[in-house]
Amino acid sequence: MSQHEAMVIVGAGHAGGRAALTLRESGFTGPIVLVGEESHLPYERPPLSKALLKGESSLEECSLFSEASFMASGIEHRSGVRVIGIDAERHQVALDSGVTLGYRRLLLAMGGTSRSLDFSGRRFSNVHHLRTFDEAIALQQRLKPGTRLLVVGGGFIGLEVASTARDRGCEVTVLEAGPRLAARALPERLSDALLTLHRRKGVAIHLGAQIDGIQGEGRVDSVRLLSGERVMCDELLVGIGMQPNLELAQEAGLATGSGIRVDRFLQTSAPDIYAAGDVCEFQRADGEFHRQETWRNAEAQGRLAALNMLGQQQAFSAVPGFWSDHYEFGLQTVGTLAPNAYVIERELADAGFLLLYLDSAARLQGASGWGIGNSIAKDIKLCERLIESQVVLPWDSLADVSVSLKSLLRGAHA
Ligand code: FAD
Ligand code: NAP
Repeated sequence: MSQHEAMVIVGAGHAGGRAALTLRESGFTGPIVLVGEESHLPYERPPLSKALLKGESSLEECSLFSEASFMASGIEHRSGVRVIGIDAERHQVALDSGVTLGYRRLLLAMGGTSRSLDFSGRRFSNVHHLRTFDEAIALQQRLKPGTRLLVVGGGFIGLEVASTARDRGCEVTVLEAGPRLAARALPERLSDALLTLHRRKGVAIHLGAQIDGIQGEGRVDSVRLLSGERVMCDELLVGIGMQPNLELAQEAGLATGSGIRVDRFLQTSAPDIYAAGDVCEFQRADGEFHRQETWRNAEAQGRLAALNMLGQQQAFSAVPGFWSDHYEFGLQTVGTLAPNAYVIERELADAGFLLLYLDSAARLQGASGWGIGNSIAKDIKLCERLIESQVVLPWDSLADVSVSLKSLLRGAHA
């Protein structure tokens, strides 16, 4: 058992910030130290590609807590400081400021780092990534009417920024390496809806695009594709995924896979060390190890890790889900969208739709939907309850929108 008193959290992002707050709200009165290399209070990242990038939100509005409530919580926030080493045996972490901190329990919530293109050592002042508030502000300042924005990567960052940039009057081209948009996270039906919408809004989208060369001195002027095409640009955004920040855990000898491996209680292979959020790889009910890069996961795991750090031993079992916004449309998913599931589509108003993912016994495992604004939210919420209840659903009437999801939840058709 550690001689130290403090709960220490590495990474003052969403999961780390939520954990710190939960520790205090759950009655822990000892020292809580939140170490983060960014110079801001913990904030939520979804607005970075949406409202904040549009100039319709502020850092304060994205923050997990106000300055005043944070001060009142007595949590010690070491900002602009990086943890550079973990001594799991001695229960200590080393900071780049030269300080060593002892911990009673440690939470690793380091998130991830944007993947970069290979520029062969060249530096360009108009290349952007989008993970932090500071990067969002830097990009925002460049998105002027008429700016030619080239986006590499047709995933969530690429497409949400494309949408925001079009709303700001930019000319936008998206290069996606794969055969469809956001293929790793979304079913084909949603990829197609995104493609149709973005093209209708005037975004030039190249699928199966492979970069053959990057031209420019100090700034990228154009990108040449393997197809021979050349795309000119004023600004370039790289949105080709992120890599979880695993180095600290690996150097400390913790078990890792595609993330820091944890058990059902979010505890790593080392005593008194937990992990949460984008960096955390956990075992699903089907036994597969899995990592999620979503707001909902950071929120749920940050909270649960804190409770377990206090000795509660609660297993992680939250239903996964995420959303993404594009112009006036929004998409949402909940549960597991297994490729081998039986999929039934319900057609909704204004070109919206809901896809239901069922197992062979007609129990709902996942759902994804598309609609104007937040219109799909109510159906997705009901789907979440259907997933939790595992009620057997009537195959024949599921596509019929006159049969309400609420009635199915009541078991009216079971
Ligand atoms: P982060 O929030 O990234 O926090 C990790 C923190 O740890 C960072 O502040 C980092 O600087 C710090 N850190 C790393 N290493 C160290 C170290 N050694 N020492 C000290 N500090 C360190 N999800 C959705 O579900 N819906 C959305 O619409 C959505 N939109 C998004 C838009 C953008 C632009 C981005 C980037 C993400 C979006 N996400 C969305 C994903 C969601 O924001 C993430 O899943 C979530 O932020 C993960 O939280 P986290 O705490 O694990 O990591
Ligand atoms: P992402 O969703 O993984 O998408 C990256 C896309 O870029 C993929 O479609 C990928 O194709 C493609 N790609 C990879 N290399 C490429 C290349 N060299 N040229 C062209 N395309 C390439 O990652 P992201 O959009 O960068 O987002 C980063 C993080 O932010 C993720 O954690 C994401 O979840 C989070 N985020 C989430 C949301 C949301 O949930 N609404 C919004 C914004 C950001 P392959 O799949 O074929 O590799």
